[in-house]
Amino acid sequence: KAKNDGKNGFRFFEAAMDAEAQARRALEVDLHDALVKGELELYFQPLFSLAQSRVCAFEALLRWNHPVRGMVSPAQFVPLAEETGLIVPIGEWALHEACRIAASWPRELRVAVNISAVQFRSATLNTVVLQALAASGLDPARLELEITESLFIDNVEATLASLHALRRLGVRIALDDFGTGYSSLSYLRAFPFDKLKIDRSFIVDLLEHDGATAMIRAITSLAEALGMETTAEGVENIDQLDILRAQGCNTIQGFYFSRPLPAGEVMRLLTRDDQARAA
Ligand code: C2E
Ligand code: MG
Ligand code: MG
Ligand code: MG
Repeated sequence: KAKNDGKNGFRFFEAAMDAEAQARRALEVDLHDALVKGELELYFQPLFSLAQSRVCAFEALLRWNHPVRGMVSPAQFVPLAEETGLIVPIGEWALHEACRIAASWPRELRVAVNISAVQFRSATLNTVVLQALAASGLDPARLELEITESLFIDNVEATLASLHALRRLGVRIALDDFGTGYSSLSYLRAFPFDKLKIDRSFIVDLLEHDGATAMIRAITSLAEALGMETTAEGVENIDQLDILRAQGCNTIQGFYFSRPLPAGEVMRLLTRDDQARAA
């Protein structure tokens, strides 16, 4: 009897695995069509400069409006897109779309675009960036590419060469989710990033652990010494903001200031921002 149960348990496990694999496969097929069907959209979350008391940039964030499932989170479909290689055409679309939209904004605003490691390693990234800039007429200095530390796990030389090639196009490079990935600091010295984006996990910790403030101070002093800006991600309340300001963080991004918005609401937010400053 016991033996039988075990076997049934195993069959149940197998069936569950099948169902999960099938669900993934279905999502993968849908994702393939999503781009063509116009189901992908970019939302924009403001980065607020503490020194200038104004919005200085927006980060473009992918949204998938699935006809049946509704909004699918990028945390779910970006990894799938990376595994299947679909992130290359999707990322190309995102770059074009972000540059096109940002070209209509006031000139003091930058746009930040996330670049997946898979897309970064594809041979076409440089050309795609050039084409997106040319097609939109966006000043390269207004485009910031966000990459992650995972690019430094292997092939550091190739990564550095690609970063320098991108930099020669006149775009800025930000290191996203800083502090969560590969822990060697040597690549910080080897490559002059324009900005470090301090991962949200450090910001969450600010109100819970005494050491967290010291971590922020260490990161902002290191960045300053190396000539890099800092942005804190995931700022959700005024207490976090006050600590970040006191520790010399340059810009903040998070729900406290604004959630990511559809492109059509960007201008309205800027008006709100102007009014807040005038008040
Ligand atoms: P990320 O680049 O680190 O983007 C920041 C994420 O934090 C966004 O999640 C944003 O909505 C969320 N966030 C911002 N402020 C707060 C806050 O105050 N509290 C909390 N809890 N969350 C906050 P989102 O939009 O779900 O994107 C998740 C990740 O998906 C991004 O992390 C990025 O790695 C990836 N992703 C999004 N769009 C793209 C894209 O166009 N290309 C690539 N390759 N990856 C993308
Ligand atoms: Mg990002
Ligand atoms: Mg980030
Ligand atoms: Mg993050």
